[in-house]
Amino acid sequence: MALIVHKYGGTSMGSTDRIKNVARRVAKWHDAGHRIVVVPSAMSGETNRLIGLAKEIQSQPDPRELDMIAATGEQVSVGLLSMALQAIGKKAVGYAGWQVAIKTDSAYTKARIQSIDNDKVNRDLDDGKIVIITGFQGVDEEDNITTLGRGGSDTSAVAIAAAMKADECLIFTDVDGVYTTDPRVVSEARRLKAITFEEMLELASLGSKVLQTRSVEFAGNYRVPTRVLSSLTDPMLDLEVEANSGTLISFEEDKNMEQAVISGIAFNRDEAKITVLGVPDRPGVAYHILGPVAEANIEVDMIIQNQSVDGKTDFTFTVPRNDFQRALDVLNSSKESLGAASIAGDAKVSKISVVGVGMRSHVGVASKMFRTLSEEGINIMMISTSEIKISVLIDEKYMELAVRALHKAFELEKA
Ligand code: ADP
Ligand code: ASP
Ligand code: MG
Repeated sequence: MALIVHKYGGTSMGSTDRIKNVARRVAKWHDAGHRIVVVPSAMSGETNRLIGLAKEIQSQPDPRELDMIAATGEQVSVGLLSMALQAIGKKAVGYAGWQVAIKTDSAYTKARIQSIDNDKVNRDLDDGKIVIITGFQGVDEEDNITTLGRGGSDTSAVAIAAAMKADECLIFTDVDGVYTTDPRVVSEARRLKAITFEEMLELASLGSKVLQTRSVEFAGNYRVPTRVLSSLTDPMLDLEVEANSGTLISFEEDKNMEQAVISGIAFNRDEAKITVLGVPDRPGVAYHILGPVAEANIEVDMIIQNQSVDGKTDFTFTVPRNDFQRALDVLNSSKESLGAASIAGDAKVSKISVVGVGMRSHVGVASKMFRTLSEEGINIMMISTSEIKISVLIDEKYMELAVRALHKAFELEKA
């Protein structure tokens, strides 16, 4: 008997028929003698709909009230799934985040989980119940409802698995595992049987939305065996077959594992580029440009500063597209004191990254990447690298072309 956490995403919970299928799948695991905790997301499209409603009232919704609204989608899912389980003869009980309680900080819309009390859940499991807990939401010290950022149900599930010392966390989604790149963009993308935790963390943080980055951090910090697999197969699929399907996030670099130099390609359409032109090149330039941006709580990603010509330099960086206008406003208000000639912005850019632990021991990955893009006539605006990734910023209209060309150049379709 094992303790297993299942997470079901929006598509998996997308209709009452799909929810009935989730119930049958969960019941199958429970019938096999396992203790099961389920973390569902809101039904697909629901969180967008709720945020849309808020924006009809306030163009910049109050974050606390926005979380009140956005968190309700998951509560509906929990109730429906509990009922679907009861309807097939299972004992099931549903909880909102605050009832457990899943305690977070107070950073509305991007709260971080601080602790999870598992007493109540354990008592229910001892009673033979299946426990269903809302994804995406928590509660802060003052009893305010918080949410964990888009895609946050992954993090709820892995954090609950960590807190309960679960044997495994199964992330059921609308694809049958983690692929070399988004299979909706490159049809030749190949499913990976396993991926190292480090690579998964890079892919997620560089834009692969299959797992929320923080869920991968939890999996790594607490060594939670985590697997990504399909919820769209026959719910009565043989349990052993299902248990070994999908993609396992591994913590060891298995010597027998696929020894690819590159494991995957991630892309992020969510970037915007800002250039401060003609600033006097003196100590403190970066600080004076980026200080006010940081104070406005805007995250900066890629940065380049050109060599100075006649004592003046250009400074370019990227920010999340959502924060683009705010970042421009901040800079325009400090333009005079910076002594900048002008400030330019471009929100139509995308970041593409190749990721692989094999890069550590191989040279030539960057030059192959740059050659491939140049052969497609794609201009690189910015570059950033780490030990296991190379990222480039390009015009967003070439994003899909670039991902396909790189996938082919690195032969990722081949096992
Ligand atoms: P859920 O609602 O189940 O959380 P998401 O939409 O958040 O599902 O994540 C699954 C989606 O992630 C897939 O449908 C796929 O389009 C996308 N995706 C992006 N990169 C990858 C990748 N490398 N492998 C698999 N799926 C990916
Ligand atoms: N429902 C939330 C969202 O759409 C959380 C999740 O799906 O993981 O972002
Ligand atoms: Mg998701």
